[in-house]
Amino acid sequence: MTISSRNLNLLRSSLRLRPIGKRGFASHSSEPITFSVPPEFKTRTPPYAALLTRLDKVREILNRPLTLAEKILYSHVVDPEEAFAGKNGQIRGETYLKLNPDRVAMQDASAQMALLQFMTCGMDSTAVPASIHCDHLIVGHDGAEQDLKASIAVNSEVFDFLRSCALKYGIQFWGPGSGIIHQIVLENFSVPGLMMLGTDSHTPNAGGLGAIAIGVGGADAVDALTGTPWELKAPKILGVKLTGQLNGWSAPKDVITHLAGVLTVRGGTGYIIEYFGEGVETLSCTGMATICNMGAEVGATTSTFPYTDSMKRYLLATRRGPIADAASAVNNLHGYLRADNGAEYDETVEINLSELEPHINGPFTPDLSTPLSQFAEAVQKNSWPSKLSAGLIGSCTNSSYQDMSRVASIVRQAKAKGVKPKVPFFITPGSEQIRATIENDGFTDVFLGAGAKVLANACGPCIGQWARDDVPKGEPNAILTSFNRNFRARNDGNPATMNFLTSPEIVTAMIYSGDMAFNPLKNKLVGADGNEFLLEPPQGDELPPSGFQQGNLAYLPPIDPKPAPSAEIVVSSTSDRLALLEPFEPFEGRELKLNVLMKVKGKCTTDHISAAGAWLKYKGHLENISNNTLIGAMNEETGEVNRAYDLDGTGYGIPELMIKWKAEGRPWAVLAEHNYGEGSAREHAALSPRYLGGRMILCKSFARIHETNLKKQGVLPLTFADENDYDLVKGCATVETLDLLQMLNNGGADTGFITLKVTNRDGDEHVIKTKHTMSKDQVAFFKAGSAINYIGNLRRQTQAAQQT
Ligand code: SF4
Repeated sequence: MTISSRNLNLLRSSLRLRPIGKRGFASHSSEPITFSVPPEFKTRTPPYAALLTRLDKVREILNRPLTLAEKILYSHVVDPEEAFAGKNGQIRGETYLKLNPDRVAMQDASAQMALLQFMTCGMDSTAVPASIHCDHLIVGHDGAEQDLKASIAVNSEVFDFLRSCALKYGIQFWGPGSGIIHQIVLENFSVPGLMMLGTDSHTPNAGGLGAIAIGVGGADAVDALTGTPWELKAPKILGVKLTGQLNGWSAPKDVITHLAGVLTVRGGTGYIIEYFGEGVETLSCTGMATICNMGAEVGATTSTFPYTDSMKRYLLATRRGPIADAASAVNNLHGYLRADNGAEYDETVEINLSELEPHINGPFTPDLSTPLSQFAEAVQKNSWPSKLSAGLIGSCTNSSYQDMSRVASIVRQAKAKGVKPKVPFFITPGSEQIRATIENDGFTDVFLGAGAKVLANACGPCIGQWARDDVPKGEPNAILTSFNRNFRARNDGNPATMNFLTSPEIVTAMIYSGDMAFNPLKNKLVGADGNEFLLEPPQGDELPPSGFQQGNLAYLPPIDPKPAPSAEIVVSSTSDRLALLEPFEPFEGRELKLNVLMKVKGKCTTDHISAAGAWLKYKGHLENISNNTLIGAMNEETGEVNRAYDLDGTGYGIPELMIKWKAEGRPWAVLAEHNYGEGSAREHAALSPRYLGGRMILCKSFARIHETNLKKQGVLPLTFADENDYDLVKGCATVETLDLLQMLNNGGADTGFITLKVTNRDGDEHVIKTKHTMSKDQVAFFKAGSAINYIGNLRRQTQAAQQT
C-alpha cells in the first residue's frame, strides 16, 4: 500500500508520534525549564516547567479546581485543546486521553514480550528513558546466594536477551539480584509529578512518591517506548481522606487491607485513588508506597499521594537532593503537587488512622478483610487451618527500611525471652540497597539468629517462585505473608494453600505463636523461663540513621545508557523460551462469524487465563506459553476445569481445542462472567487467545487493563448489555456480528453497542445487544491486526517519507 504525504500527515497527527530517533525526558513543550537540576538528574526529573505550561492550558479550558491526580495526568496530555475543549467538563469516566508518559519500567517476565514487540517497530532507541528489572524469574529455596546462582543458570538465555536489548536500545539493565522492579523504581526513578508506565500491575507503588504510575501490558509500554501517545479513558477520582495517626501495631498496610475490604476487588475499577487529609502528613514515604502498591488489588488505575516532608526526606536519603529541591519549588510556588482547594472527588472514603486496627485479608482474595480482633473467630467459623505453616515478609510491597526495623524490634523482643519462631520464616529484601542497609544495621543478623531464611532480592515466593518442599501439594495449610496478592496457588503452586495478607509486623508476631488465632495485642507468648509475656508494639526508624548502603555496585547500571545500534539481539533459533514475533493478520474487512469455544464460570483472573509459576519461563515464546491458555478456567456447562468440547462432543483441554480450531480455520469466542482478566497485568492473557485464533471475548464485565490488552492484540472485547443474555448462549454456538463494520467505519464513535446473532447448536436463535468501548485509535489497531502492526506501519511510512 502506498500512502500520500497528506494522508501520512493525517495519520501522524492522529497519533502525534514523537520524532524518530529523538530521545529526551518527555519534554512536551519548548518552554524554558526554570526548575533546573544538574545534568545527571535531568532524565530523572519531570519537565516541571513544561507540565505547568500545559496545566495552565487545561485550567483555561476546564475552569475548575483540579485534584492532584488530575493535575499530573492532564499535564501529560498531548493536546489539551483536543482532549478537553467542547466536552462541557464531562471528562472523568468519559473522555479518552492521549498521554505522553515520562518513563517506562519493565520486569523480566513481561519485558520479553514488550521488547519483542518493540523490535518489530524498527527504532534505534526508546523515545523515553526505560529500565529492565530481572526479578520475577528468581526462585526462592535455599537462600539468596545459592538461589541466585541457580536461577541465573536456568534463565541465562532470557537474561542475555534482555541485556542485549538494553544495550542496543539504550535501556537501563538491572540484572538478577539487583532487586524488585517497584522497589528500584521508588529508590531511583519515582518523583512527585512523574507519569510513568510499568509492565507490571503493582507499578502504582511509585505513587508513594507522588507519581502517577500505571501498570500496563507490553503493547502499551511499546506506545511509550516508541513515542506514540498512550490512550487512557480519564479515570474518575476516589478521594480517601486520612485523619489521625497510626499507632501501636497498626501499619500502613492496614490502610489498604482495610480499604480493600470496603471497596472489594472491583470497587476501584476506573478510578485513581487520591489520598488527602492531615493523616497523610504522618505517613512515611515507603508506607505510602505500600498503600499505593496494593491499590491494584481493588482494581484502581493507580493511587497517589500529595507531596509531603517524608517524600522530601526519602528523596534526600536516596541521593536525589536536587530533585527534592525542584519538587519543593514546584509545589511551593505553583501548588502542582497537591489538590486545589475546592477540588471535588467522585467518591470519598474516610479512614481515621488513630482508630485503625491491624487487618488480615484472605484467603484466596485480597478483599476478604478481617480486623485482627475478629480474626480468631473467623478462623474458627470458616474452618480455616488453626495452625500457621509459614510466615513470609518483604517483596515489593513491604520491604522498606521502616518495615524491616519494626520487624527487627519484634524479633529482638522474642530473642530476649528465648523464644524461636514456630514455623519457617522467609524474608525477601526488595533491593540490593535494602539488603545491604539491613545487613549494615544489624537486622540481617537478628533475622538469621531467629532461624529466618533471607532470600534473594527478587520476587521469589510472591510470584510462585517458591520451591516449597515442606508441605505436599494438595494439603490444606495457612501461610501469612506481607505480600499483596493471594489468588489460589500463587505462592507455592499448591491450590490448597491459604495465603492471608497482613503487615510484616503481624506476620512476624504470629510466627512466634504458630497459632492462627493468636492476637499479639492481647495474647501472651511463653518465654524460655516459662513465664508469659506480651510483645510490645513494634518500633522502628523511617529511614536508616546512618544512610542507605548501595551494596554491590556492580548491580548499578549507567544512569543514561546510550543506544548501541550495531549490537546484536541474542535469540537462538532453537530456543524454547524465546521466539521472534510474526505479526497477526490484519482484519479481513467483513463481519465476524465465530464459534463459542467455551463459557467460563465465575472468577477468571489473568492467572486463570495465562497461568504463571512454571509457565513464566515461556514468556518470550508465544507458541509455547500459549499451551497454558485458560487452563485454570471452569467450564460453566460441565463444572470442569480446563475442559472444552468440540462440535461433535469430543472433550479436549482448552488450549488443545483452540489449537485444533485454529488449524481448522475456525475462529472462536469465549464467554465469561464479571471482571474477566482481573489480577496481574498479564499481556499473554490477550496475546495467547489471539495467537490461537480467538477473536472475541464476550463477558459481563472486564478488568480495565485486560480489556485494553485485548484491543491492542486485535481481539474484540464486548460486554452483555443485559447480563442475563449470558444464559442464552451455549457452548459451540455460532456468533455473528451484525454491525461491526458500521462501528469500525464510524471510528468506534457510534452507539457504543454491537448486535450479535447467536445460533445455538439446537437451532435456537437470539439477537443480543452488547457494548463496546472501542476508541478511534483502538479501531485502527483492530483493523491493522494489532496495535503493534499499526505503530510499525506508521513508523515505516514515516521513515520512508523522511527518506524521500
Ligand atoms: Fe514481584 Fe510480587 Fe511485587 Fe509482583 S507483587 S513485583 S511478583 S514482589
